[in-house]
Amino acid sequence: MERKRVMVTGGAGFLGSHLCERLLEHGHEVLCVDNFYTGRKANIAHLMDNPQFEFMRHDVTFPLYIEVDEIYNLACPASPIHYQFDPVQTTKTSVHGAINILGLAKRIRAKVFQASTSEVYGDPDVHPQPESYRGNVNPIGPRACYDEGKRCAETLFFDYNRQHKLRIKVARIFNTYGPRMHPNDGRVVSNFIVQALKGQPITIYGKGDQTRSFCYVDDLIEGFLKLMGTPDSFTGPCNIGNPGEFTIKELAEKVIKLTNSRSKLVYKPLPQDDPMQRCPDITLAKKVLKWQPTINLEEGLKRTIDYFGKRLVDEWSAARPWKTEASRPRYAAQVNSSARARAASPKAKRKSRSR
Ligand code: NAD
Ligand code: UDP
Repeated sequence: MERKRVMVTGGAGFLGSHLCERLLEHGHEVLCVDNFYTGRKANIAHLMDNPQFEFMRHDVTFPLYIEVDEIYNLACPASPIHYQFDPVQTTKTSVHGAINILGLAKRIRAKVFQASTSEVYGDPDVHPQPESYRGNVNPIGPRACYDEGKRCAETLFFDYNRQHKLRIKVARIFNTYGPRMHPNDGRVVSNFIVQALKGQPITIYGKGDQTRSFCYVDDLIEGFLKLMGTPDSFTGPCNIGNPGEFTIKELAEKVIKLTNSRSKLVYKPLPQDDPMQRCPDITLAKKVLKWQPTINLEEGLKRTIDYFGKRLVDEWSAARPWKTEASRPRYAAQVNSSARARAASPKAKRKSRSR
């Protein structure tokens, strides 16, 4: 495969760090650009020694002058509590960020990928959502800074494509989860797993009958690479997500079962404009990208629970170095046993041999 110089904005975040890792595995040079608004150094610490990897601290709302072959634009807070914390900055990141990245791509004739979102469909009245559906977004509500920012970014991408013949790829990403999600970002999968592991109440907003479709991060990144590799005539938008649909209550019950937790469900008010249903129609991705998810919710949750369990144990040990082994939290035992089971599996042995 041809080695390329690839820039990933938002590369220190949850999805960006997995993307940087996968691009390096494919032999590319990676420039990760991030201002650490929601990303963390720890997400990319393991890549810093790689000579093909470079990090630049930069805010995409300001212009950037570099030379690369391809750009993935992921910079933007993604969880409702993060993007609603400073909504004006969220819109600026999506819109000014897109203008700067598209201007750069135009100057250097780079192919450019936009991480758009299922939020462009708002609270959908068509179900599941195909790319042709134009959405039902409240333009003045608390989610609008994100939804409308991403919609405007899509507009800019398609105008640069029509006006300047820029090569663009627009992915509409549905809820994705996995290792390196921020434990306090308020997203449902990370919230439920951390609450269950700590034995705290599981917070269900509303009645828990709203639905989401959850895609495991490895599947999603595979979809990104396939979309970027399509012929120039294919621009998207293309839905990338897992069509398996679950109510939030079903998700809570699965997490409790898989963590063997004693946590109880507690019901809190549903946030304003919270979409009642969401499920991707991935007919287009199947046809054009020859892609579909391969990791089901149960398997993906097990891997994510292992990650959070280990992280909580590490944080606990760092905070209480004077405590004895016997007083370690209950989830420590479970993490150790599932890690042992994984290590014994033939797939894990193959992976550790190849490292
Ligand atoms: P994340 O918050 O973990 O990552 C976003 C990254 O962007 C962070 O590292 C953050 O520091 C960086 N960033 C934010 N503002 C910036 C700025 N102005 N300049 C430079 N860097 C900036 O979120 P994520 O889940 O990894 O999401 C990545 C992208 O995918 C986002 O664009 C998001 O809208 C999109 N997306 C994610 C999901 C999902 O379920 N994870 C769903 C739909 C869309
Ligand atoms: N949610 C919940 N409890 C939580 C966090 C979220 O019931 O502790 C609900 C939230 O109201 C929404 C769904 O889970 O209906 C998904 O929320 P998330 O913030 O993960 O993503 P988004 O709403 O952007 O799809």
